[in-house]
Amino acid sequence: MAALRKDWDTYFMDIAFMVSTRSRCPRRHVGTVLVQGKKLLGTAYNGAPMGVQDCSEAGCMIVEEYEPAPAGTSAAAMVKKQRCIRTIHAEQNLLLFTDRVDREGSVVYVTDQPCWTCANMLANSGISEIVYYRPYPKDYDKVAALMEQRGLIFRKLEYYAPPPDTEVQDGS
Ligand SMILES: [Zn+2]
Ligand SMILES: [Zn+2]
Repeated sequence: MAALRKDWDTYFMDIAFMVSTRSRCPRRHVGTVLVQGKKLLGTAYNGAPMGVQDCSEAGCMIVEEYEPAPAGTSAAAMVKKQRCIRTIHAEQNLLLFTDRVDREGSVVYVTDQPCWTCANMLANSGISEIVYYRPYPKDYDKVAALMEQRGLIFRKLEYYAPPPDTEVQDGS
């Protein structure tokens, strides 16, 4: 009996997770790939600009922001969140390292649901579809509304498990 063959979604998302292991930010490893037809046209992960000290060398660059508390809690509640702003997000690096002509009508696979800024940029980049795995609830509603308005396919990969040892354990 032949080994179970990976479907294309699994194949490209697995590559995105492999790419994410290149990230040197201990807080978040994000990987993304650009696919046109069944052809891989680019890969990127979150990281500091080339030649600049990254999180593993200089530490994360932490900012604290208040954001709305998760749904189900008091409407007025705000929670303080820390995030690292040293890195260029994976999706933005993907746009910096691919050509517009390659992006026209292509699909972006990304390990994490894009944040608002990345989604906004992707929406104007020529791509036609975004496939992600890990949710990012903070920006979900506005990103989903943007994708709907822009007519882009936006879907979470269900029934998927990342390859072993490709997810950050810390996650704080
Ligand atoms: Zn960092
Ligand atoms: Zn982003």
